[in-house]
Amino acid sequence: MIRKIPLSSPMIEQDDIQAVVDVLKTRWLSLGPKVMEFEEKFAKYIGCKYAVAVNSGTSALHLCIKSLGIGPGDEVITSPFTFVATANCALFEGATPVFADIELDTYNIDPVKIEDKITDKTKAIIDVDIFGVPSNKDAIRAIAEKHGLKVIEDTAEAIGAEYKEKRVGSFFDCSIFAFYPNKQMTTGEGGMIVTDNKEIYELAVSYRNQGRAVDSKWLDHVRLGYNYRLSEINSALGITQLSKIDKILDKRQKVAEEYNRHLNGITGIKTPIESTQDFKVSWFVYVIEVINKEMFMKRLTEKGIQCADYFRPVHLMKFYREKFGFKEGDYPICEEVAAKTVALPFYSNMTKEDIDFVCQKVIEVNNEIQNLT
Ligand SMILES: *Cc1c(COP(=O)(O)O)cnc(C)c1O
Repeated sequence: MIRKIPLSSPMIEQDDIQAVVDVLKTRWLSLGPKVMEFEEKFAKYIGCKYAVAVNSGTSALHLCIKSLGIGPGDEVITSPFTFVATANCALFEGATPVFADIELDTYNIDPVKIEDKITDKTKAIIDVDIFGVPSNKDAIRAIAEKHGLKVIEDTAEAIGAEYKEKRVGSFFDCSIFAFYPNKQMTTGEGGMIVTDNKEIYELAVSYRNQGRAVDSKWLDHVRLGYNYRLSEINSALGITQLSKIDKILDKRQKVAEEYNRHLNGITGIKTPIESTQDFKVSWFVYVIEVINKEMFMKRLTEKGIQCADYFRPVHLMKFYREKFGFKEGDYPICEEVAAKTVALPFYSNMTKEDIDFVCQKVIEVNNEIQNLT
């Protein structure tokens, strides 16, 4: 019998289901008390003054770019090893994403490479904590201050991660979180902007809701805005999910430890970076490095285990190649990492039996490949 193990699966419990049902019963489905409660609790959890709930992490990134006044002619430096929305948000506003290569160990943007890319057009850095591993915040802060740059923290994959005992999402001008079902906590679809800056907060609130001023009447639009609102239904789910975020992160930590127990020290496989003195990882995915990625993924899939190509470099996506002329070799570290990384099934409620089963197949495939070479 082939056991079906999903790549990811949200942790939805009875209280989550009840919260959604309760909102439906109130008939108050948008712009109500749940979104405000979700925002207040989220801001408190991260340790910032303001939070603005929106309908996706991508919308959150877009509104950060807009609220910082980034537009045509501006350059925004970010990592090529990320989800495509991190770079796309600059394009939405006619700004140019400029990539700086990553570090081999953390897969995060290399601060040294950021400095090489700064020009007089550079306006901001989008700092990403990829796979829930915090970037080097001290170094990024020093560069931003030296050159007068804004910093957006893309912490979509890193809720609860810490850098020097402070939660990510609280370090720079503004940050974003995302709640798609594969993220640590979910609202179905959803995102959040977090900031200490009142001006960014008020602009984001306005842009999210058709360009209304924070205190203006229903049909009074003071700027070009969008409908990026998060419904009461999603927000209610966000509240229950956030209430058990410690439990979720703890379960994911245990799943990662169980994977490590099987895979640490196996020739041909490199297990993911773990927490250090300086930072605490929030486990988003379990990504290993393998020798022959293409064959590894093919054979693992044949054995009934889903796995994913995480990530393909953004600069090598078709439309980035066509628009900017990027080619292989432009970001060698990113390309080297991307040529080896595979995401294995990973979710909060993954059982020991499922992890053992996946690892058994991973080791089988790894042995087959080792024997070929
Ligand atoms: C998931 C994710 C986003 C975008 O979130 P959506 O809610 O899917 O729009 C942005 N950046 C990173 C790094 C992500 O992983």
